[in-house]
Amino acid sequence: MPFDHLGLSPELLRAVEDEGYTDPTPIQEQAIPIVLKGADLMARAQTGTGKTAAFALPILERLKGVANKSFSPARHPIRVLVVTPTRELAIQVHKSFKDYGKYVGLRSTIIYGGVPMGPQEKDLLGGVEIVVATPGRLLDHAGSRTLNLGQVQVLVLDEADRMLDMGFIDDIRRIVAMLPAKRQNLLFSATLYREVRSLASTFLNDPEMVDIAPTITAAESVEQIAYLVDPDRI
Ligand code: AMP
Repeated sequence: MPFDHLGLSPELLRAVEDEGYTDPTPIQEQAIPIVLKGADLMARAQTGTGKTAAFALPILERLKGVANKSFSPARHPIRVLVVTPTRELAIQVHKSFKDYGKYVGLRSTIIYGGVPMGPQEKDLLGGVEIVVATPGRLLDHAGSRTLNLGQVQVLVLDEADRMLDMGFIDDIRRIVAMLPAKRQNLLFSATLYREVRSLASTFLNDPEMVDIAPTITAAESVEQIAYLVDPDRI
């Protein structure tokens, strides 16, 4: 199915074309219509499948109507919160929102630790519709009251399995407690082990499932050898 059959507006299709994408990837083909209709989504998809566009494009589509040029921060409440396990992923996801949303006019910012709080505070206080953040620094801002999550409409938990592996579960609970009860929730994870499903059952509301099986195939020129090791010697 070509991109222009997925229900995306010309501003988004033009940005997709600028990226050089010709056809949607399987996760995009399946997830975009679900996100566009406002349903919750639980998706098993690894990085490299095109999962970022699978949530960023339909989110931008749903929100583009609220874009405005007002200087008043109150006209730019946070409407989308994307939580990622690492700063590197946050940077990539934020860049994708910028690239795909370049003709839409929504404001976005990125929040992660290890850098001064000041510039991030300035962005938050100025008003931004889209925030991509790692959990710890997001909570720091919440503690210093530079952050109001009371108008968030869409929550994305990206690489949820890694967030659990990295011990962010309590942080995620605290973040979710600051969000309005009525919102759309999207969870992306490379694996669906028990803890991920349990996280999904806590935060997602009757989610639709998309499962993109990993296709890990090495190039033919790569010789693969397996050595069996006695468990006692590991
Ligand atoms: P992601 O899984 O979101 O990290 O995306 C992996 C890479 O695929 C990124 O470099 C994207 O720019 C690229 N990509 C995403 N969607 C498409 C598409 N429909 N066609 C070609 N490349 C894509």
